[in-house]
Formats: sequence, C-alpha cells, structure tokens
Amino acid sequence: MSAATSIAELLAAGRDEAPAIAAPGRMPLTYAGLRRLVTDTVATLNRLGIGRNDPVAIVLPNGPEMAAAFVSIACGATTAPLNPAYRADEFDFYLGDLDARALVVERGSESAAIAVARQRGVPIVELVADPAGPAGAFVLEGTATGAAGATGLAGDDDVALVLHTSGTTSRPKIVPLRHRNVAASARNIRVALGLTPADRCLNIMPLFHIHGLIAAVLSSLGAGGSVFCAPGFNALRFFSQLGEARPTWYTAVPTMHQAILARAERNREAIAASPLRLIRSSSASLPPQVMRALEETFSVPVIESYGMTEAAHQMASNPLPPRPRKPGTVGVAAGPEVAIMDELGPDLLPQGEVGEVVIRGDNVTAGYAANPEANAKAFTDGWFRTGDQGMLDAEGYLTITGRLKELINRGGEKISPREVDEVLMDHPAVDQALTFSMPHDKLGEEVAAVVVLVEGSSAVEQELREFVARRLADFKVPRRIVFLAEIPKGATGKLQRIGLAQRLGISA
Ligand code: AMP
Repeated sequence: MSAATSIAELLAAGRDEAPAIAAPGRMPLTYAGLRRLVTDTVATLNRLGIGRNDPVAIVLPNGPEMAAAFVSIACGATTAPLNPAYRADEFDFYLGDLDARALVVERGSESAAIAVARQRGVPIVELVADPAGPAGAFVLEGTATGAAGATGLAGDDDVALVLHTSGTTSRPKIVPLRHRNVAASARNIRVALGLTPADRCLNIMPLFHIHGLIAAVLSSLGAGGSVFCAPGFNALRFFSQLGEARPTWYTAVPTMHQAILARAERNREAIAASPLRLIRSSSASLPPQVMRALEETFSVPVIESYGMTEAAHQMASNPLPPRPRKPGTVGVAAGPEVAIMDELGPDLLPQGEVGEVVIRGDNVTAGYAANPEANAKAFTDGWFRTGDQGMLDAEGYLTITGRLKELINRGGEKISPREVDEVLMDHPAVDQALTFSMPHDKLGEEVAAVVVLVEGSSAVEQELREFVARRLADFKVPRRIVFLAEIPKGATGKLQRIGLAQRLGISA
C-alpha cells in the first residue's frame, strides 16, 4: 500500500472492529464508527455551507470529542482548534485572523468565544455528544449559511489544520498544514516509535497544540492503534488512568513528566500493573536527570523528540533500542532532512558546528498564510529555518544549543513576548515594556517583563498582572514585572530580550 497522503486515507489502517478512540468510562469508538463519523460530519458540514479549505474554529474541552472533531472536520474543512482558556480579546483576534466560517462549540458551552463569534457574525455550530454512546461520537447542529464551495472528502493538497505560531512579530502567524503534511508527520512518528495496531496512547496533551493532535491522535490512528483521551492532564489522576486505559505509551512535555515523577513513588503498584512500551517527550528540552528518573521508574525507554508547529510536529527523534538514545540531544532526523545553516545563510555547516537548525520534507508547511515577508525570512534555498540553534554530531544526533527567535517556551507553552508588550503598553501608567524569558526550575522558562512607568504615574506589579490577565490567557501573564527607569540595552545598544534575565540577575 502506498503511504497515506490525507487523514481519510490514514484512517484506512484500522480494522473495522478495532478501537480507534477511547475515553474514561466510555465504550471505544471503533474504526468503522470513526469512518462513519467522518462521512456524516463531512455531509453535515457541506449541508451547512462549509466545504474544503473553509476555516472552522473549534473550541472544545480536551477529550474524545475534541479528538474525533479534529479528525472528522479536517476531512471536510480546515480545522482551527483554539485554546479554550483564551480571553475574549484573544478569541476576537483569532476568529478575525482566521476568517473563520464557523465556530464549533459543545452544546451548553459557556465559552467566551461564543459571544465574540456572534458579534463578528461567525455562525455557531453546536457539537452534540452522546455520553452514553461510544467515545468521541457526536453530531453537529447549525443553520445553513449558503452553499459550500468545495464539497466532499479533503485530499492531499487541502489544508487540514491551521494553528497560530508565536513568532517574533507582535501577532502570531498562521501556519497552514495540508493533509499531506499532517499525514507525513503522523507516518514519521509511527515509524520512529514502531507503532502498530497493538499500541494505545494515553493522551494527556492539549488538543489545540500540534504535539497532541499529531503525535498522540494521528500517529495512533495511522498505525491502526488507539488513543485513550483523558480530559487533560491531571498528575493525581494519571496513575488511575494508566489502569483504565492500559496504554502502551504516552507522550508529554517535560513539566508533565516531572509532575508524574513527583507522584510515582506512591504509585509503584499502579505502574507495575500497567507496563508501558515507551514514553515520549517533546516540545521543550528534557533535562537528562528527568529522563533517567523516568526510565528507572517505568523501566522503559524515554524517547526525546524535537517538534514544531511548522513541521506538523516531529523533526528529529531519539531512536528506539537497540539504537542508542543520547540524553541532552533530540535525536536524529526523523522524517524531514535536518541540517545546520550558517546564520546568514545559505551555506550549510559541517558536523560539529553551531548554527540555525533547518529542515526540508513533506511534513513541512509550504509557508505562513498571507505573509510574504515572514516567508522570505523563514525559507532559504528550500530549507525552512526553525529559529532554533543547534549542532549535529558525528552520528547525526542533534543538540539544541539555543534560540535565535524571541519566543518564550514555558514548559512547552509558547508565548510571543511582543504580544505581552503590547498589552502592557496599553496600561495608562506604562510608558515602555519589554517581555522576556526568565529561568524557572520546573517550567524551564517563565514570562517576565521590565516596565518603565510614565513620569509621575504609579502602578504596582499586581495591578499590571491583573491588567494583562484580563486580556491574555493566564500562561502569558508575566510572573515577575521589574520596574526600571529605562529598558536595559544589549551590548549593541539594541533592545535585547535574550539574556536579559541573566543581565538583571532574576529567576522565578
Ligand atoms: P511548537 O511550535 O509549540 O511545537 O514549538 C516549537 C519549538 O519548541 C521549537 O522550535 C523549539 O524551540 C522547541 N522544542 C520542541 N521540542 C524541543 C526539544 N525536544 N528540546 C528543546 N526544544 C524543543
């Protein structure tokens, strides 16, 4: 069989009666059921006037319906999953930027997105779940708004998923991922982890982020295996979920692994009773001590991988045994080609030299939507520039040594510092603001800001934090705000976020 180039083709891997999507206290949705759900969902969307490449914003709690909605809506339209924790201002930006044709929410939902969609004239489509039915099964209900442009099943060239990426510009950029990109990424992860129909992933990752959508959901479905969808991550419940889900693996960000480890001692029996085959870590750097402790605790290989939204997630991965895992590295190219480019470009650097990590392959986005300027910067000679700095060793293992882009990686959650600057500067007492990353022992990085007040004005840290929290989701709110008479400049006299925490001597 040739490799699948669309989500609909990926789903063909599962036997009719095999479980595809499972959840706590629910009977699983089989592959036959999921394929039916896809057919029904595409027909409903088309009837509502929504077709291929029409952006559909999805705001759903984590769980089986979100997984099923992503997979089935992507087969007939373009999915745009949004973080349910966003504030109204953020929903307003995203719904407008996406030019969303509809907003999907659960019936009875009280999301702030609903009022914003109404104001913007974006039709609401209600997802009606059946708690007594198989995990994830739903029907969509809404009012038709004209005829759909391109009806029927999406193919390899149609856009399956759009996500925003926090970039160096003030506003996040739209990353369109075509069916062929996400199908390639799902295959790359399946191959790297040796996934088969016998595998079951316990998903604890948010399903508005590329990691959970592709590494947990699509890679499992492309292998004909199953994904057990927990209602998000809860370190207290994780061990009982192991017992109910009987997974063979899970994938998470390092902070989740640390929270799990912190409770592992008390849960030795649960761990022994539900043996895994592997644990995967991605989206932020995994400290080697955490990797070692996880391997000892669960007696399985811990596979650190390197992913990015623009790559439909996976770029590199440590290999499964018997090939060696190298702690502190993100492994070898695992799908796309990976090279190191001179920071000026376009020369590629030899092994052992530090430069910008660049990638090329069928999982990589063709470019940001409607943003020629960003695309001119992001692509050089057909290579996509990740904005990460790294080095390849003699065996082709990649070490991430730093970052050239300005984003803050808060335990895997990415924050665009300029977005926070803009909100701070809207406060009447703030004259200038510069948001930056400060070291944090658990999260790796945390959000901090320096603020210069308007002469004669006063404001305290708490007041500014509350001001930001009204407009931005909690994870973007600076944990520390330092008041200074002027914004410190780097050696070159320019404002420099990178290294600022160190120069100011602050950490969380
Ligand atoms: P996202 O688009 O949210 O997946 O974020 C992608 C970024 O996360 C990458 O460009 C890296 O900066 C960072 N990242 C992902 N995986 C790792 C890893 N294993 N180690 C270090 N940084 C990582």
